[in-house]
Amino acid sequence: MDALFDHRRYLIPFRSSLLPQIFTDTLVIGGGVAGARAAVEAARHGEVIVLAKGELSASNTAWAQGGIAGVMEEGDTPEAHLGDTLVAGAGLCDEDAVRLIVENGGAALRELMAWGASFDAGADGRPAAGLEGGHSAARIYHSGGDATGAEIQRCVSAMMRATPEIRVFERCFALDLMTPSSEVGASVLGAITHHQRYGLQMIWARTTILASGGAGVLYRETSNPRVATADGLAMASRAGATLADMAFVQFHPTALYLPGASRALISEAVRGEGALLLDAAGRRFMPEIHPMAELAPRDVVSQAIMRQIAKQGGGHVWLDCRGLSGFAARFPGIADMLRKFELDASKDLIPVHPAAHYMVGGVRTDLRGRTDVPGLLAIGEVAACGLHGANRLASNSLLEGLVLGRVAGEEAGRAMRTDTPRQGPVPVVSDIRPSDHAEIDLADVRSSLRSAMWRNVGLERTGSRLRDASEMFDFWARYTLDKIFDDPEGWEVQNMLLVAALVTRSALWREESRGCHLRSEFAGAREEFRVHDLWRRGRGEAVVEPVHLGSDGVGR
Ligand SMILES: Cc1cc2nc3c(=O)[nH]c(=O)nc-3n(C[C@H](O)[C@H](O)[C@H](O)COP(=O)(O)OP(=O)(O)OC[C@H]3O[C@@H](n4cnc5c(N)ncnc54)[C@H](O)[C@@H]3O)c2cc1C
Repeated sequence: MDALFDHRRYLIPFRSSLLPQIFTDTLVIGGGVAGARAAVEAARHGEVIVLAKGELSASNTAWAQGGIAGVMEEGDTPEAHLGDTLVAGAGLCDEDAVRLIVENGGAALRELMAWGASFDAGADGRPAAGLEGGHSAARIYHSGGDATGAEIQRCVSAMMRATPEIRVFERCFALDLMTPSSEVGASVLGAITHHQRYGLQMIWARTTILASGGAGVLYRETSNPRVATADGLAMASRAGATLADMAFVQFHPTALYLPGASRALISEAVRGEGALLLDAAGRRFMPEIHPMAELAPRDVVSQAIMRQIAKQGGGHVWLDCRGLSGFAARFPGIADMLRKFELDASKDLIPVHPAAHYMVGGVRTDLRGRTDVPGLLAIGEVAACGLHGANRLASNSLLEGLVLGRVAGEEAGRAMRTDTPRQGPVPVVSDIRPSDHAEIDLADVRSSLRSAMWRNVGLERTGSRLRDASEMFDFWARYTLDKIFDDPEGWEVQNMLLVAALVTRSALWREESRGCHLRSEFAGAREEFRVHDLWRRGRGEAVVEPVHLGSDGVGR
C-alpha cells in the first residue's frame, strides 16, 4: 500500500446532503490573474463563483514584480517570442501551447489596458517595453516600476467586482473537488469548501476551473505568499487528474535574507540595472562563473550563489546596489520593503539568498485548459499546459494566466451553451474515521517538510538525497494523511505533504539535468528523458508521454 498514492479520496468525512448547498454554472477556485480572467469570460454565459482562500490581494499575481511579456512593438514578432520561450523550456515545451500564448499576447495586454490597467509609459506616452533576461526583444511591460502584479490584480479584481454575474467568496478554502464516485476518471461536479464564517458548504457547478496558483511554500525559502501551499495540485490529484513534470521548480536567485523577514523578492531587474553579487568578504564571484556574470541565466546565478554559500559555510551573499542611481524611483516597492528592515539600497549591502519561486509542473491540460477529468479545467500556475517546458521564461506566467484564463472561460461557456444540466446535489458520502495514531504537532510537520524540501529537493539534487526525502515523506504520510483536521492549517499540511512527495518522486525519476532541474550526477539533458513524466492517483510511478511537437511537426 502506497500511503501517498492510495491515500483517501477526501480530506474530511462528510455527507453532501447534510451540508448547505450552493449552485452555479462555473466555479473558479482562485482569484489571481488566471482565475479572474476566466471568471470574467465565463460570466458572459452564466453565473460564476470565484473562491480565494484569503483576500483577493493575497496571491502570487499581486506579488509579481518583474513585468508581463507580450508582443506590441513593431520590429518584435510572436515568432521571436516563441523562439525565446522554446529556448528557456529546454526541449519540453509544447510548441502549439507556446504559439497560442505568444500570438495572443498583444491582444491580452491591450484588453487589460482597456479594463483600466496602467503600464509605465515612455517619453511618447505609450506603454514602454523593457528588455529582460532570455527575451531577445523589448516586450516586458511594467506598472509602478516593480508593482506590475499589484496593478494587474487590482484591475482584474475590480473587473470581477463590477460584473454582476460573478460572486467572489474570499476567505473560502476549497478542500476537495467533488466527484460522484471515487473512481479515477469520474466527473468533477464542484467542490466542498470551508468559509471562515459560514463553515462547510457544497458548491455544485457545471464546470470547475482550478486556478489555485503555485506551491512555493513547500520550501523553507520561498518568494511566494503564504497562500501558495499547493492545495490545487493536491486536490486535483485526489480527484484523479494527471499531474505532469513535477520535478521542475524554478528558483529565484535573490530573495531578501533576514531572520524573521518573509523572503521578499529582489527583482532580476535590479541586477539588470547594474547591481552586483558579493561574497561574505565583499568580492564579486559571478565573473569567474559565467561570461554574463550577474546577468547569467536565473538558474546559473541561483546555483552559483548556493555554491558560494556552501563554500562560506552558510549564511547568504550580498547584493550591492550602491552604484545604482535613482534606485528608489526605479524600484519603489523594493525600496519601501527594504526600509521596513532599516536597509537603504543606496548605502547598505542587502543580504540575499535563492528561494523557490515558480512551480513549472502542474495539472496536465490541453490548449482549452481541459484536464483528463471531465468537468475540470486548470489554468495558471497550477496547470501544465505545455508553455514552460522544463523552465519558465521570465514574465511569461502573467501572460499565460490572461490568455488561458480567457480560453478556459470560453470553454466553461461552451458547456453552458450545450445545455449540460446544472450539477447536483449528488449524494456523496466520505466515510472516514479518525485514526487512533497519536496526535501530531502540525507546525513541526510543516516546518520539517519545508526544510527537507529545501535541503534535499532544492536547487541541486542527488539521487541519494532525493531517496532519503522520498522515504521520509512516505513515512510522515502514514501518520499525517490518516488524520482528520478541522481547519485550513491541517489541510494545507496534508496537501503540502502529498505534493512534496510528488515533486521528489519526479525529481528522482528524472535522471538528467534539464531546465531548472539539476541532478549533480547527470551533467546535462539526456535524450531518453525528453518526455513528460505523468503522475496519477493509484499509480505510484511515472508514466511517460512524448513531447507534443508543433503543428508543423517539427521538434525544436
Ligand atoms: C514574488 C513574485 C514575483 C513574480 N514576478 C513575476 C513577474 O514579474 N512576471 C510574471 O509573469 N510572473 C511573475 N511571478 C509569477 C506569477 O506571479 C504567477 O505565476 C501568477 O501570478 C500565477 O497566477 P495564478 O492566477 O495562477 O495564481 P495566483 O495569483 O497565485 O492566485 C491563486 C489564487 O488561488 C487561491 N487559492 C489557492 N488555494 C486555494 C484553496 N485551497 N481554496 C481557495 N482558494 C485557493 C488564492 O487565494 C488565490 O486567489 C512572480 C511570482 C512571485 C511570487
